[in-house]
Amino acid sequence: MKKVLLPQKIRDEGMDVLKGKVELVIAPDPSQDTVAELIKDVQGVILRTTSAITREMIASAPQLEVISRTGVGVDNIDVGAASEHGVMVCNLPGVNSISVAEHAVALIVALAKTLPYFDHEVRKGNWKSRNAYRSGELYQKTLGIIGFGRIGSYVASIMGKGFGMNILAYDPYLSHAGDSELKVTFCELEELLAAADVVSVHLPATSDTKGLLNKERLKLLKPSAYFINTARGSVVDESALVELLQAGKIAGAGLDVFEEEPVAMDHPFATLDNVILSPHAAALTKECVVRAAVEAAEAVIDVFAG
Ligand code: NAD
Repeated sequence: MKKVLLPQKIRDEGMDVLKGKVELVIAPDPSQDTVAELIKDVQGVILRTTSAITREMIASAPQLEVISRTGVGVDNIDVGAASEHGVMVCNLPGVNSISVAEHAVALIVALAKTLPYFDHEVRKGNWKSRNAYRSGELYQKTLGIIGFGRIGSYVASIMGKGFGMNILAYDPYLSHAGDSELKVTFCELEELLAAADVVSVHLPATSDTKGLLNKERLKLLKPSAYFINTARGSVVDESALVELLQAGKIAGAGLDVFEEEPVAMDHPFATLDNVILSPHAAALTKECVVRAAVEAAEAVIDVFAG
């Protein structure tokens, strides 16, 4: 029976797919040293995010046939080395699109309706907060989507159809058809930033997108604009974002991802009450973790079956 290494356990539903079909090798811990030792003797690996599969590990594993990721990103696998050694790398594009898109929507709505502020004030007994601060409507406001792929186009669809927002999008490499019933205006990045009431970032982390939202570009945002990032921290100049938020040059931000994770407790973001933070949790819904475990396990079985 072929052996499959799990550096970290996956959800039971994914384990059920493997049981009886392969021999499971569950690492006692996901450290690089432990994984490097155990990988030498297996045909498959199912990889979450804590461990990385390096060139050296792949070279030391002559029987390895497949590395299956429980998510989209393969940045913790040396894909070049895998292909040189004939090891198939499987990932799950789209597995978390709905969860991440819904999370971006939640951040947009929570900011527009000032929910964290109201919640905090009501708990303090400040009922008068209902008149002290005005939340806003999203209807007929403009949403700018940067990166109109699976997640970006789904956010556009929910906010366009559900909330009646006008949609602008920037994506010079567009390959995803999106929702044909939705009116989307494609434009240049600078035009989008200057016009949008809400900007939501859905770019991959690449050398092209690193720092794409730099100080000059962020300064184009309207003072009333909200900035949402559920993509990757590296695409945004965080210090510039902090400066604009502190100076009231933009209205607020909703952030799930950061240049450095976990975010330090003394990070300026944590001191700003016009910012909503979440711990890179957009994809970690109950449904998504099960779906990812099952599909990653099925991919291994499919590769073994040829
Ligand atoms: P996708 O590949 O479907 O879409 C990405 C889009 O970005 C594509 O349409 C592509 O053409 C566009 N793009 C690429 N480079 C660009 C550039 N330089 N300028 C403008 N557009 C560019 O990916 P997706 O599934 O929609 O995911 C988007 C990103 O969301 C992922 O790459 C990942 O970084 C992030 N993500 C975050 C979480 C989370 O938990 N917060 C989970 C999953 C994905």
